Amino acid sequence: MRQRTLSIIKPDGVSRNLIGKVIGRLEAADIKIMAMKMIKMTKEQAKGFYKVHEGKPFYESVTDFMSSGPSVVMVLDGDDVIKEYRKLMGATNYKEAEEGTIRREFATDIEKNVVHGSDSEENARFEINYFFNALEIPAQ
Ligand code: GDP
Repeated sequence: MRQRTLSIIKPDGVSRNLIGKVIGRLEAADIKIMAMKMIKMTKEQAKGFYKVHEGKPFYESVTDFMSSGPSVVMVLDGDDVIKEYRKLMGATNYKEAEEGTIRREFATDIEKNVVHGSDSEENARFEINYFFNALEIPAQ
């Protein structure tokens, strides 16, 4: 099924010069980038993005991290792309991520794990609309 998902190259990925490496993985997997920009989230924007994690012990820390520097946000398009991209990313904790995944290869910490990808269609819709307006995304 053709889908869209939201991907973020997080501040650690940008500051460690991993933008090209992540995009290379997407291209090799035949995932299309429909929209892309570099942003720097405010603390409030990061809190809104990770609202589902409000109240968890890492909420303050992860929202500090996500607002600590520029990120690259992208809308990805492909067959079953939500699951496919999460497979490319690997598990949240890089130590548990499969060999060859982005997080296993590049992450340094459970929090500084280089990339984000939506985990459901509903979250993908919310997250895409959080960062992109209709003019920035090509029509389906
Ligand atoms: P994801 O969907 O794989 O990104 O994982 P989650 O939605 O569970 O968590 C969101 C983000 O919060 C993760 O990608 C990490 O950056 C961070 N995170 C998750 N679990 C922890 C944790 O136990 N400690 C810390 N410090 N950060 C975490």
